[in-house]
Amino acid sequence: AKGAGRNALRIFRPQMQSAFEERLTMAADLRQSMEENHFEVYYQPRVSTRDHAIVGAEALLRWNHPRRGMVPPNQFIPLCEETGLIRGLGLFVLTAALRQLHQWQQAGHRMSMSVNVSQRQLADADFAALVEDVLAETEVAGPSLELELTETMILEESPVLQANMNRIRRAGVRLSLDDFGTGYSNLARLRQVEIDCLKIDRSLIKTLPDNAAVTNMVVAIARLMDVKVVAEGVETPEQAAWVRDAHCHEIQGFLFGRPMPAAQFTAVLQRQRDG
Ligand code: C2E
Ligand code: CA
Ligand code: CA
Ligand code: CA
Repeated sequence: AKGAGRNALRIFRPQMQSAFEERLTMAADLRQSMEENHFEVYYQPRVSTRDHAIVGAEALLRWNHPRRGMVPPNQFIPLCEETGLIRGLGLFVLTAALRQLHQWQQAGHRMSMSVNVSQRQLADADFAALVEDVLAETEVAGPSLELELTETMILEESPVLQANMNRIRRAGVRLSLDDFGTGYSNLARLRQVEIDCLKIDRSLIKTLPDNAAVTNMVVAIARLMDVKVVAEGVETPEQAAWVRDAHCHEIQGFLFGRPMPAAQFTAVLQRQRDG
């Protein structure tokens, strides 16, 4: 009976064990990489729809692990959220992005910085105070920072969330809603929450210009809310023309620039000024 038990274990264990162990190993690697600075912030340009000038950047986290190579954020951020590592990493991204923004602004570039925030961060009672501290430390004005939230994060009416959002907005920081049009938008709730900007999700822009019906509706809702509208994931000139005609204010997409290291972004900014 003992032997059979061992065999039975052997039959179902390998995959379960590998999935579980892989998560443990990855969490350990993430912790080590935080100590050894294997994280870097990339920047993707956000341009004005009208003249395609760079008006801002989105900070996007990159994990360059010695053995794993470049790991895309979708493959490690969920684990960071589950383990709470996102607190430290989120602070790293915010600090690095605002330091960089300060340098670019000192060099005369008029632009803002967008930083992604996860649920776990916004649920911390001291998150807004932390944002204020980083702004002060990096000498960046509140309105130059935009924090990107998602719809699911703001659906719940929690006192901590509300207090954080109020305090962040009092500091002049802007709030945007990321991936707009993908969730079950609760329009009544959206009107309660004070949002400065909606980012139309890439999956909707992808359907353009041929299957524009749903995208048309989502853009119409966004414009009715009287906030800034950004089209994400624009890859073709046809899509750029469509969102311009639909009166979206800004564009973020591979057509105008992929996420890139800070030094490369600096070169792009300089070319824009000189050219
Ligand atoms: P997101 O916030 O929606 O960021 C935009 C993603 O779309 C980026 O992927 C960007 O590279 C990609 N993208 C932009 N334009 C185009 C385009 O024209 N075509 C295509 N195919 N893709 C485009 P990335 O950098 O891999 O990030 C994926 C997600 O990881 C982000 O989606 C965000 O949810 C999360 N993420 C990245 N950095 C951070 C961070 O610092 N904190 C948190 N909490 N999440 C982050
Ligand atoms: Ca985003
Ligand atoms: Ca997005
Ligand atoms: Ca997203």
